[in-house]
Amino acid sequence: MRLTVGHLYPDYLNIYADRGNIAVLVRRGAWRGLEVEVVAIGLGDTVRAGAHNLLYLGGGQDREQGLVAPDIAAKGPALAEAVDRGAAVLAVCGGYQLLGRFYRDRYGSELPGAGLLPLHTVAGDRRMIGDVLLECELVPGEPRTLAGFENHIGRTILDRGTQPLGRVVSGFGNDGTSGLEGARAGRVVGTYLHGPLLPRNPWFADWLLAQAVAHRTGDEPPVFEPLHDELEADAHAVSAARAKARGGRRFR
Ligand code: GLN
Repeated sequence: MRLTVGHLYPDYLNIYADRGNIAVLVRRGAWRGLEVEVVAIGLGDTVRAGAHNLLYLGGGQDREQGLVAPDIAAKGPALAEAVDRGAAVLAVCGGYQLLGRFYRDRYGSELPGAGLLPLHTVAGDRRMIGDVLLECELVPGEPRTLAGFENHIGRTILDRGTQPLGRVVSGFGNDGTSGLEGARAGRVVGTYLHGPLLPRNPWFADWLLAQAVAHRTGDEPPVFEPLHDELEADAHAVSAARAKARGGRRFR
């Protein structure tokens, strides 16, 4: 089976090794007999609903976000249609911010977003930097943890009733005070976690692949056979320990 991943703005939104997330999706897909094809979607390119099973956006500095913001705002309706038709989305940090209504940077300029997630972001006066550990439950009854690294000046405010990706154990998360991190709307996930995120959180990579397969087949997301993730588990444990030792704030 072939899965198509649409990588939005790979030349502009790719910091703190975010491109590594693509490598993990391709490799873990292959280990499961899935051929994961990655296509770049750049400025001025059209997004055709149904063409991609998973859409991915990495993080970026304010300058790069400013260069892609008008384009992603224009793509908003097409992205919404792709999501309505079941495509999965992973957006990291600057990409996550641009899935909301807008990102107001430290100079007060409002960068328009895709309006795909019910949230907005406003730059604060201090960067929130460090290792992060979250508790989350994407699959009801299956509590999990996510470990990663954050570096952002933006504070993201979720609209009332918006589901976060998880609750911060240690770190800053969306705004450094709410104890919430990221946002989730069905198969659309936004997070501040870099690192890259997926090598040290293989269960989440598998969750994304399963959502993409479900979009491809129209069936329920498959439950994959476990892989030998000892190395990944070690990487997660090291990252989680670092977060507990020196993450931004301790919420739990
Ligand atoms: N430029 C945004 C901020 O600082 C996002 C940064 C990032 O992607 N790491 O908040």
